[in-house]
Amino acid sequence: MKTSVQGYPRIGKHRELKFATEAWLRGELSEGELHATGKRIRAESWKKMAEAGIDRIPSNDFSLYDPLLDTACLVGAIPEPYRIMGLSALETLFAMARGRQKGETDNVKALPMRKWFNTNYHYIVSELSDGTRFSLSHPAKPVEEFLEALSLGISTTPVIPGAMTFLSLARLTGNRSRSDYADDLARVYRELLSELAEAGAREVVFDEPYLASDLDESDKSLFVRLYELITPAPLDVALQIPYGDIRDVWQEVMSLPFARIALDFIEGPENLNLLRKHSFPRKTILTAGIISGKNVWKTDEGQALDLLGEISRLSGCTSGNGRLEAGIASSLVHVPLTVAGESALDPAIVSRLSFAEEKLAELVLLSVCCEKTDLRSFNPNDSDGGEGPASLYTAPTIPQEECTRTPERHIRRTIQARRFALPPLPTTTIGSFPQTSEVRSLRAAWRKGAIDTTTYTSRIRELTVDCIREQEELGLDVLVHGEFERTDMVEFFGQQLKGFAFTANGWVQSYGTRCVKPPLIVSDVSRKGPMTVELSVYAQGLTNKPVKGMLTGPVTILNWSFPREDIPLAAQAFQIARALREEVLDLERNGIGIIQIDEAALQEKLPRRKADRRAAYLSWAIPAFRMTHAGVKPETQIHTHMCYSDFTGIVRDIDEMDADVITFEAARSDHALLAFLAAEHFQTAVGPGIYDIHSPRVPDVGELYDAIHRCARLLGKHGPAFDGLWVNPDCGLKTRGREETIHSLANLVEATRLVRQEAVHDID
Ligand code: GLN
Ligand code: ZN
Repeated sequence: MKTSVQGYPRIGKHRELKFATEAWLRGELSEGELHATGKRIRAESWKKMAEAGIDRIPSNDFSLYDPLLDTACLVGAIPEPYRIMGLSALETLFAMARGRQKGETDNVKALPMRKWFNTNYHYIVSELSDGTRFSLSHPAKPVEEFLEALSLGISTTPVIPGAMTFLSLARLTGNRSRSDYADDLARVYRELLSELAEAGAREVVFDEPYLASDLDESDKSLFVRLYELITPAPLDVALQIPYGDIRDVWQEVMSLPFARIALDFIEGPENLNLLRKHSFPRKTILTAGIISGKNVWKTDEGQALDLLGEISRLSGCTSGNGRLEAGIASSLVHVPLTVAGESALDPAIVSRLSFAEEKLAELVLLSVCCEKTDLRSFNPNDSDGGEGPASLYTAPTIPQEECTRTPERHIRRTIQARRFALPPLPTTTIGSFPQTSEVRSLRAAWRKGAIDTTTYTSRIRELTVDCIREQEELGLDVLVHGEFERTDMVEFFGQQLKGFAFTANGWVQSYGTRCVKPPLIVSDVSRKGPMTVELSVYAQGLTNKPVKGMLTGPVTILNWSFPREDIPLAAQAFQIARALREEVLDLERNGIGIIQIDEAALQEKLPRRKADRRAAYLSWAIPAFRMTHAGVKPETQIHTHMCYSDFTGIVRDIDEMDADVITFEAARSDHALLAFLAAEHFQTAVGPGIYDIHSPRVPDVGELYDAIHRCARLLGKHGPAFDGLWVNPDCGLKTRGREETIHSLANLVEATRLVRQEAVHDID
């Protein structure tokens, strides 16, 4: 039985891609050298897969920044402002990804960035205007990389972000509708297919995760239109749909002439029902995604084989007739590269782990086992009758009284206004301050044992003192301690809670050069002791202004970890929430008046289907958050923060988190969300980020002044609403440089001062 892989981690074994890219951005590495690093990583991945015995090895899954951004460049969808004279293709790509500020005329904002479906990967949102005309750029990356693999003796399947997903995720800036772009885009895709065929490719696969979303009639006809135009091709055209099921387009997908269809049976169990209800085309190959590309645990072989058997029985595809293949359900970019070298981990844990490299071996082993068992004779009633894994989404009973804060928010608001006496439009930041190389080397030295804990702690305290002084000088109203003691907002808590384990090198790409190292939840979670109290109290002691206590919320800790699979997610969320609740109360007892509980990743695991969102997720995720703060006094102000928030569909649920203030990312998307909040009578006070911190660009006072006004205008139904509006950047500042941060914040404070001065009578 053949095996196939949809995509492989691209950051390199030691995050070479990140370091090379950063060096290039600093001007310390040439473009050629950066490309050479990419080439080495690709070669290594292809060889790994070939050696493991994978039959369908992907190419073009590699990217220097983001595959969707590559696709925009590939089809020539480069918006006008990025067509800067004299830039190389690579510089243009990075201008789109990160913005650019090299002078008056060479000054552009980054394109927006969004979460890639239900993953912690972020893609760059393309912009299509009325004037956009597509054309295939040369040399075409998929062709180049196909040939590159071929020169190593490896024949690959180019993976192309599909036209449907590309179009559906793009932001349309003019009057044209999505379907108006279809013919032109399909033409360019067809051209690409001819070039790939000419280069010797036998198969190409289109990656269409968008098809596992809720789709309406216009989506469906767009999909059909695109692929009617694309599929008559000089090579086999395959389709892969990760992260869910294709219930809305089953018929359409099956009636188009795809040579192979890869379905996800891990996150899309409904695909099994669809197979039950409908037939599977007689000539098509079915690649059954039966190994998760997102978890880090070994696959239960027996269960996977049973699943494969069931799929085979229902589809009529068998290894005998060559129409059944085994696959990973999604790309492997969501897991670390390899367990090898994790020698510091408890061997009992290591023996349960499987990262990208290990999953290749599992897949091949499964396909071999499968050849030996005759799947057609499989009878589901024969299986050992085990329960199977607990459904990850079953919610335990919610301890309502532990999750309900009193009195109601509007009453608390008055009490808190009296306590803090903040000016109108209070200014604040999201928590972290730049983690300079000095901070990073300090932490590294401590971890290596080069400096002792006393020295380390006192250095962290010095940095905190500087940070508080700086904020006072800037004139911010609600301060933060700067988070210098934290490498990562989840890792920091995981390290202090019971129940977590850590890898040494388990990096996963979050966006561009940013990588995260998610902790593993390996047993029940609980609090060992205070985690943040000492430093928070110290920071608060340095100033008369309020300093926010800073915690990461239960859902974010859960979503940015690799969770257990033997108990439901909800149970894990409540365990973490209980531990955090103890910390919140501890902070309050120690005089911390404002506590921010970040739920940066609340939306990460939001089920893709609207119908499943409440029952399977929000019904426990929101109470888990409330559990952390429901025990505090009315005069304690609870903030929360969310990143990349497109919570248009879940505004009510966000309000039900019952925080007093929420800050969120909005700057990159022109604050479009605010009108929704107004329409939905959102009650929580809001701090929509007024500038984008994912880019090194310094916004000027005028721009920020306009942003504040725009926010107030969008939030107000009858004239601008300054009341309950906070002013802040849109996320933590840790990835930024010091200089640019101070400038940006000074401009933010100045812009706020100007607005306050003029609009003072509008503000109560
Ligand atoms: N408090 C965190 C910080 O400022 C929040 C980060 C985030 O939202 N991703 O870094
Ligand atoms: Zn954020």
